[in-house]
Amino acid sequence: MSRFLSAELAGLVPYTPGEQPQSGAGEPAYIKLNTNENPYPPSPAVRRLMQDLADKPAGQLRLYSDPEAREPRREIAAFYGLQPENVYVGNGSDEVLALAFLAFGKGRQVAFPDVTYAFYSVYAALYGLKTRIVPLDADFNIQPTDYLQPERPEMVVLANPNAITGKNLPLTVLEQILQAHPNDMVLIDEAYVDFGGESAAALLPQYENLLIVQTLSKSRSLAGARVGLALGRPEVIADLNTIKFSFNPYNVNRISLALAAAAVHDKEYFAECRQKIMAAREFTAQGLSDLGFEVLPSLANFVLARHGKVAGSLLYRELKERGILVRWFDEPRIRDFVRITIGTHEEMQRLLVAVSEILQEVA
Ligand SMILES: *Cc1c(COP(=O)(O)O)cnc(C)c1O
Repeated sequence: MSRFLSAELAGLVPYTPGEQPQSGAGEPAYIKLNTNENPYPPSPAVRRLMQDLADKPAGQLRLYSDPEAREPRREIAAFYGLQPENVYVGNGSDEVLALAFLAFGKGRQVAFPDVTYAFYSVYAALYGLKTRIVPLDADFNIQPTDYLQPERPEMVVLANPNAITGKNLPLTVLEQILQAHPNDMVLIDEAYVDFGGESAAALLPQYENLLIVQTLSKSRSLAGARVGLALGRPEVIADLNTIKFSFNPYNVNRISLALAAAAVHDKEYFAECRQKIMAAREFTAQGLSDLGFEVLPSLANFVLARHGKVAGSLLYRELKERGILVRWFDEPRIRDFVRITIGTHEEMQRLLVAVSEILQEVA
């Protein structure tokens, strides 16, 4: 740390991303099941478009990108039966979350579970927001009653399905929470909704305090393009734009805007990939249970699992030795678990073989 960093930020603990080994840098090629990326490439339409873009006069990049992101907003609105005014597009959903915390959290407290996406507490700390961190129950469920009697103005932030656990809340429960916060924003982070959950987008006509955040990183295989989005009432989307135009108007580059629109347009390929991943998830969960694991029921593209006889950290290390990267979080409630991203069926078969070898050696 330099002596110039603002004193207020001196204690900031940043988010720690999962490992991203760089192929060709002397690192072995891993089966990468640690950051919830999609094992399948983006839609063929995205690939074709990339080639087209490369063949066009490079002059395209001379020009700034569309600050209103009209092309992907049109496609996203059509996908959900909404209007483009209901859609905001950002540089990954992390950026959308960052702007939303600023827009709707400042001057309030922010409430979210103790076990959830780690970035929420980082944004709160970055902006100096007060937090109300609500423990999940013993089975890692969100207890809706914890969010029904706010004692002061608070923005509620819930990942649904929840990050790290994969557990999902029904829309009826979200409605209770929305009704309990008529003067505050309820942000539902639907990063994993396409793997079996139900989007709260259907609730937008009834609730002006609903903000939905999604990403093209996971279900649409575009993690490297960095495109996230928000769905909300036009006034709420306008607020996000006010913040964005006060910060970085050309936040998404031209190429990513075009690729995002093409990816959302291709509904068939999307449906095919999510079906394959959901099937591989059930196969993996069953395989791990058969090996003696406790596997939390997941509607996401990952499972959280623990084995009574092997520590999470050991499993993580032993799998890495065998060329398989999973995620282990050195945090009180989830230290015994590993989080395993769902890859292809073949990758998950190799994972299960490796896990059973490890169990034979160490358990
Ligand atoms: C992956 C993830 C994000 C971030 O996605 P990007 O669009 O790649 O920035 C946001 N929220 C949750 C819960 C996630 O798991």
